[in-house]
Order: sequence, then structure tokens, then C-alpha cells
Amino acid sequence: MNKVAFIGAGNMNRAIILGLINNGVSANDITVSNPSPEKREALAKDYGIKQTANNIDAAKDADVIVLGVKPHLIESVCKELASALPVNEKCFISVAAGTTMAQIQAALGGNKSVIRSMPNTPSQLGLGVSGAFASPQVTPAQKAYADTLMKATGIVKWLDEESEIDHIIAVSGSGPAYFFLFMESMAAEAVKLGFSEQEARQLVQQTALGAANMVVENDISIAKLRENVTSKGGTTQAALKAFTDGGLPELVSTAMQAAIARAKEMA
Ligand code: NAD
Repeated sequence: MNKVAFIGAGNMNRAIILGLINNGVSANDITVSNPSPEKREALAKDYGIKQTANNIDAAKDADVIVLGVKPHLIESVCKELASALPVNEKCFISVAAGTTMAQIQAALGGNKSVIRSMPNTPSQLGLGVSGAFASPQVTPAQKAYADTLMKATGIVKWLDEESEIDHIIAVSGSGPAYFFLFMESMAAEAVKLGFSEQEARQLVQQTALGAANMVVENDISIAKLRENVTSKGGTTQAALKAFTDGGLPELVSTAMQAAIARAKEMA
């Protein structure tokens, strides 16, 4: 289990390839395919991996095939590969939102080894979260390799049910944008208070980074961390009261349920 083909030379596959190279996977074991030359040639130049315009050439010797094309292309790429290659021994990893296990397996011609993975954008920094659901045909060795591959971009949460992919989307998939909106709102207010845009950004980003790292470094609940920085009758308490009076916890719940509902509609 050591040859991997990446179909599509876009952002997500680039992030995974970078992670693999940084984790000591040999560039000789990695091939990328993409119809247009610029992105695949840039990847080959940056990381020393093999590249081709032809998906079948990329996948023919691969044990694992990462489908890193846009969701509407997943089925046609699977049909293209299954029509030209024996696919029973190979493991397919799809990172596409909204393309179901049933759709992927049907396009591959039956019950094949398929993993649906849902990464998020911080994967590009090695700080990602991937939720992953494996079809019953995935062997322990294939699952172990896929785990290594996904861990190259962050942490991996294996899921028991495919429907949980929608929950991962609501938490970590769409999650970075929730924090961006919050930081955007804080930065806008900081500008109104008289800071320059650059100063506001710096203050907000460092605050977010510090808060996230306090959660990472301290083995206590997030609620306890919040309580620890909230003195009775103090400024933080006044601000937090405004958030709770305004319904922030309920709003977060409504927003995450909206993401789940949209993911179901897209499937
Ligand atoms: P992208 O547009 O950057 O990359 C897709 C690449 O596929 C492009 O380079 C395109 O030229 C290539 N391509 C098009 N048709 C092809 C074909 N027939 N064969 C081979 N390659 C082909 O997109 P992306 O952001 O990397 O997203 C790829 C997949 O990852 C999507 O399904 C998306 O839903 C999923 N995803 C992305 C992110 C993210 O953070 N970017 C997060 C979660 C999931």
C-alpha cells in the first residue's frame, strides 16, 4: 500500500500532497493528474512528484486514489477510471461534499473500497479536521493508509454512519467561516473605536490565536476557561451578558442546523 494518485491538482489535493511530503512520503510514490498543465506542472516542480494529463495513467499503478475534483465531476471521473482499470483492489478517497457513497460506488460499478472524507480549509496549514466514513469493503490496511494520508493535513475523525458527514460539515467543514465572521465583526468594531484596519486585524487575530491555544493547552472545559476570565461584575461579564441576552448560543445552534439542512439538500 504505497502508491497514491491524486486526481485533480487543485487546492485540496495540493494541501494533502504537501502534508504527505512533509511527513516523509516519497515523491516517487505520488502521481497527480489534471487536464490543464499549469497546476499539475507546478505541483510536480514544487514537490518532485510525477504528473500527467491522463487520469487513467495516474491511477493505473496506484493503491489509493484521491478524488480531488469538484463534486459535479466525481461521478464522471469514477466512470472513466472504472471503465479502463480493475478497481477492486484499489481504495478511492473522495473529498467532495454532496457526492454520496452510493453515487460514488455506482459510478465505480458496485461495492468497491471507498472513503468519503470531509476536510476543511485549515488543512492547507496542517491544522485541518477531516471527518471520514469508509465503505465496508475498505480493508484495515487501506483504512490505516487513508488515516496516515488524512493525518498529513491535521486530525481525523472516523465516522460510523455516512449521515455524520453532514454533522462534520456543520462543525469543522463550515466552522472556520463562523470564526472568520466573528473576527470580522470584532475587527469592524475595533476600527470604529479608532484603531487602524491593520491594528484591528492584528489585535483580533492574536486574541483568537491566544484563545484557541489556551483551549489546546489547558485540559479543562471551554466553559471553565470562560468562567476563569470572567470576573463578577467586570467588563467581560458585561460583554458576555450582551451575547447571551442577544441569543448567541441559540443562534449558533440555528446556524449549524442550517448547514446540516443545506448539506442534505445538496446530497
Ligand atoms: P480546485 O478547483 O482547486 O481543484 C480541482 C482541480 O480539478 C482543478 O485543478 C481542475 O483543473 C481539476 N479537474 C477538473 N476536471 C478534471 C478531471 N476530469 N480530471 C482531473 N482533474 C480535473 O478545487 P478544490 O478546492 O481543491 O476542491 C476539490 C474537492 O475538494 C471538491 O470536491 C471540494 O468539494 C473538496 N473540498 C475542498 C475543500 C477546500 O478547502 N478547498 C474543503 C473540503 C472539501
